[in-house]
Amino acid sequence: MSTTLSPKPKRKPSQRRPRAGSFAPLYPSQEAHDSALNSIRAFLKSHTAYDAFPVSFRLIVLDTKLNVKKALQCLLLNGVVSAPLWNSDKSKFAGMLTVLDIIHLIQYYYRTASYDYAAADVETFRLESLRGLSTSAIPTSNFTHQSLDIEKELGVDQPPLLREHPSSSLYDAARLLIQTHARRLPLLDHDTETGHEVIASVLTQYRLLKFISINCHKEIQQLHIPLRRLKIGTYVANLRHEVPEGQNPYYPIATASLNTPVFDVVHMFSERSISAVPIIDEEGIVVNLYETVDVITLVRLGAYQSLDLKISEALNQRSPDFPGVVICTSSDSLGTLLQLIKMRRVHRLVVVEGEEEERRGGKKGRLLGIITLSDVLQYVIGAASIGEGIEPPEEDNKTANSEMQQRRQTRP
Ligand code: AMP
Repeated sequence: MSTTLSPKPKRKPSQRRPRAGSFAPLYPSQEAHDSALNSIRAFLKSHTAYDAFPVSFRLIVLDTKLNVKKALQCLLLNGVVSAPLWNSDKSKFAGMLTVLDIIHLIQYYYRTASYDYAAADVETFRLESLRGLSTSAIPTSNFTHQSLDIEKELGVDQPPLLREHPSSSLYDAARLLIQTHARRLPLLDHDTETGHEVIASVLTQYRLLKFISINCHKEIQQLHIPLRRLKIGTYVANLRHEVPEGQNPYYPIATASLNTPVFDVVHMFSERSISAVPIIDEEGIVVNLYETVDVITLVRLGAYQSLDLKISEALNQRSPDFPGVVICTSSDSLGTLLQLIKMRRVHRLVVVEGEEEERRGGKKGRLLGIITLSDVLQYVIGAASIGEGIEPPEEDNKTANSEMQQRRQTRP
């Protein structure tokens, strides 16, 4: 497994022996945590989406008249996984092309056509036909994509046509991302001379969280409370894994094994609107993670029909510079996670059982949950008011209390 363990805080509070006369906090202070969150929110309210633009960046915009094959080549050549679409007939923004569109397309071809047909069709199939954006029929070799709407064909929801002005506050932009479950928000301005729309940039969840992690250094250091207590992410409901035969012991987490066909996982992506599925062994130990971007690798290999491959075979096709899967335990903190986002392009973390769970009869490395950028953003922006929704410390408290007692006994 290509695994990157999440960095632990350099010094765990419990390992520090308080110096004589000093009263260092023995366990994370809720007050400091809440106050740090409040000041991060204030920071987002006082900055605009423009502020989060990188100093220099490249924006690839695809014309809806472009055929799907060329559009995919363009994404692959530029190392990006999404791009805004532009309707040049109307000089208007026409939505985003994302990995999910590509997944829907290959699902569609897999169900409805032969490989030869798919390979020929993708040469002529225009982006505007993907989502029924076209108003006119587009004749191709032996098929007419008139009013073809792949999303409707597959019975999945159409993504909302989101947009925000670059001078909106980052807080409002983040709220919109959360409310719509979008992973990126196109930022649109107007040309003052022509009055036409101008695509200024795209604000991603990653960019937003990275902006926080770079600029709210002091606040992040206060976010010590463990992730599980904060309820950030999606966790296995029945930790004892004693479930009736045939039921998913890791419910509600969608999982797969190395022998699962890629098609089944691709189906989970579109049915559950998720972007990654942990790959586990018979004991639930996490061995890898299959992500929506991995499907792009298959497409690059011209594999509209390679969904029959097993996950193990598909993982072998990953590029050697794949950065690895990031693993953490539920006792890692939100602060540690945000530090990690500052250092590397991480989009999700798999939470596994660690030493603490092992002490309670668990198994180290077994799947416990998944945390994505949506989960982190949702927590940071906060649907609930600060302090609400935090689980009582229970075991943490017990451990902290017993550690506290030990320390008291050993204090000089
Ligand atoms: P994402 O769109 O990948 O950010 O995920 C959306 C939501 O689904 C988040 O709340 C995740 O915690 C959750 N999620 C992500 N992957 C899975 C999965 N494999 N099974 C169940 N829930 C997931």
